[in-house]
Amino acid sequence: MLNIGCHLSTAKGFLNMGLDTTKIDGNTFQFFTRNPRGGQAKDLDLNDISDLNKYMETNHFAPIIAHAPYTLNPAAADPKTREFAEMVFRDDFARLKHLPNALYNFHPGSHVGQGIEKGIDLITEILNKILTPNQENWVLLETMSGKGSEIGATFGELRTIMDQVNYRDKLGVCLDTCHVFAAGYDIVNNLDGVVAEFDKIIGLDRLKAVHLNDSLMPFGSHKDRHAPIGKGEIGLPALARLTRHPALTNLPFCLETPHDTLSEYADEIKTLSEA
Ligand code: FE
Ligand code: FE
Ligand code: ZN
Repeated sequence: MLNIGCHLSTAKGFLNMGLDTTKIDGNTFQFFTRNPRGGQAKDLDLNDISDLNKYMETNHFAPIIAHAPYTLNPAAADPKTREFAEMVFRDDFARLKHLPNALYNFHPGSHVGQGIEKGIDLITEILNKILTPNQENWVLLETMSGKGSEIGATFGELRTIMDQVNYRDKLGVCLDTCHVFAAGYDIVNNLDGVVAEFDKIIGLDRLKAVHLNDSLMPFGSHKDRHAPIGKGEIGLPALARLTRHPALTNLPFCLETPHDTLSEYADEIKTLSEA
């Protein structure tokens, strides 16, 4: 059985995210650690979290994904924005100690004209301040489409970041299918080649999760627009094949497709499992 689920809103609480996931035949989900466009985090309800932890154990959940806010940019030129990123990392990591089953995923950052090398230096400077040898939750760099001045659109850039981090034991990657396709990795016609390249440059042991999305924008467009599964340029056959690739099939797959209702995600999961 596939480890699959979708992005959920935290508004209804942690246990309810687990229950909603079961409703759509899933066993993993993703949530934002705080307002995706702001910085405020709600106080943690530790009872709710412990209920979710018990629920996930009983129901054999795969790892879940905690997504950092979009406003986080550790590669920013403005020192205040970088201080904010450092604060968010610190606070999120402390909170995630209560969710040992969670992987922490973030967008590496945008260099905003400073150049990729400088951007990577700034990202690793922050990671070196906050990662310790006792880091418990995995921290994942998301593969990006390369829109604007985004860092992380090539496996090489992600590898360079990892190489510059001292305590990198718990540093991994979340592969977003829409983003890598838009970045020019041909997962439609050459999935084996892309997987082999990932293994050569980063190492498959670092790949911990997949964001499963179709892409509204064409191959290599460097544009980041998610489409429902089968409604984009990647297509259902290629995405279904990807979930069954021996190197990927045991990972948690999380849908970040544009839908408003749980039943649409349930349909998507059903379609993928039957494809
Ligand atoms: Fe993301
Ligand atoms: Fe994503
Ligand atoms: Zn995206």
